[in-house]
Amino acid sequence: MSMENQKVYLEECLTYDLDTIEKILKEAFLYLGINTPESSKILLKPNILGIYPPERYINTHPVIIEAVIRLLLDKKNTIILGDSSGNGQYGSTSRALEKSGMTALGQKYGIEVNAFDKHTNRVFINDKNHIFKKINLTTYIDEVDYIINIPKFKAHTFVVYTGAIKNFYGCIPGAGKPFGHFRAPGAEKFSHGLIDIYNFIKSKILINIMDGIIGIEGAGPGAAGKIKKAGFIGASSCAFSLDAACLEVIKTNPRHILTHRLGVERKLFSGNVKKNKELPQVSFQLPKGSALEGILNRIIPGLAFSKPFLNRAQCTRCGFCAKACPAGAITLKPYPVFDFKKCIYCFCCHENCPEAAISLKENILFKIFKAMGNEKS
Ligand code: SF4
Ligand code: SF4
Repeated sequence: MSMENQKVYLEECLTYDLDTIEKILKEAFLYLGINTPESSKILLKPNILGIYPPERYINTHPVIIEAVIRLLLDKKNTIILGDSSGNGQYGSTSRALEKSGMTALGQKYGIEVNAFDKHTNRVFINDKNHIFKKINLTTYIDEVDYIINIPKFKAHTFVVYTGAIKNFYGCIPGAGKPFGHFRAPGAEKFSHGLIDIYNFIKSKILINIMDGIIGIEGAGPGAAGKIKKAGFIGASSCAFSLDAACLEVIKTNPRHILTHRLGVERKLFSGNVKKNKELPQVSFQLPKGSALEGILNRIIPGLAFSKPFLNRAQCTRCGFCAKACPAGAITLKPYPVFDFKKCIYCFCCHENCPEAAISLKENILFKIFKAMGNEKS
C-alpha cells in the first residue's frame, strides 16, 4: 500500500433501510474508484462477536450485509459469508451466525454461510511480522479472489475501539483466538498482533465497510456496552484509514488508538486520510482512561490497571467466560472464580459474557493517573 493519504467515503445514515444503504454503498464504490468485481469468489467478513440478535447491535447488522450481497450478485459473483465468533467453543459460531441473521441471508440468496471453525485452516508465515510470525488462519483467505471486511463500530475495553483492523482477528478459527491473546498479552502486543494478521490478508481486501449506524459505546464490544446511534456508514480500501476517519466522527484523535499509532510506526499507512466530506460530530463514549492505559503500558509493560470482577446476581453460570479465557484462569464453582496469578488481563471473559455479569475494576494506581490526567486536561 502506498503511503499517500487514503480515500475514505463517509455518509450519514440513520436507518437500516436496505435501499438507502445499497445506494450509499454504490456511491462509496464510485468515490473510491473500486469496480464491483464480476464472476469472482468473494468472502464477506462481518463482525459476529456472539449469539445475539440484530436488535442488540453487537454484531454487524444483516441489512448492511444484504446490501453488499445485492451489489455482488448483480455481477454474478460467488459469495461466501463467514466468521469465527469470540467464544472459542466449537459450534458457537454457527449459533451466532444463525442468531445474527446471517444464516437466513444465506438461505434467501443461495450463498454459502459458514463458521471458519468448520472449514479448513492452515499456518500462515511472515518472518517480518512482530508477534504472529506464524498463525493459523482460515483457508478461505487463499480460496477467494477478494475479501470484503464489514466491521461494526464499537468501543472495546481492552484495545479501546474495535473496527476495521480489529475485525480480522476473527479470521483465526475457534479456540485459536483465546490462544492468540495468550501469545500477545497486553494491549500493545495484541495490537501489533492484529496488524500482523492484517498483513496476511491485505492483498485480498477489496473494500472495508463500517456499520456505524448503531454501535456499542462504553464497556463494549459485547453485552456490557451500551447501544448508541452513531449515524453513519464509512468505506475505504484501507482498513487503517477507515478506522481513523470513523474515530474522527466521534471526536477521538486516532493517534490514541494503538493499531493506528503502530500502523504509522510500521509504515503501513500515512496516518492521514482524504474524506469525501466532514460528517457532523457525534458524542460516543470509548472506555474511560483507555488511551492513558495504552501510554502507561508503554512505560510499564504488562502492568494490569483493571481486573475482571463478577456481578454474581447477573451470572447464569453458563460457563462462556471460562471457555473464552486463554489462561485457564477461571474455574466454575459453580460461579466463576478468577485466579489472578494466571490472568493475563485480556478481558475476553468480560467481552464474551452474554449477561454483562463481568465488569472491570480499576486499581488505585490507575485511578490516581487518571485523576492527574483529568486535572491537566
Ligand atoms: S460470568 Fe457471564 S459468561 Fe461467566 S458464567 Fe456467568 S453469565 Fe456465563
Ligand atoms: S480471567 Fe478474564 S481477563 Fe483474565 S485471562 Fe481469563 S479471560 Fe483474560
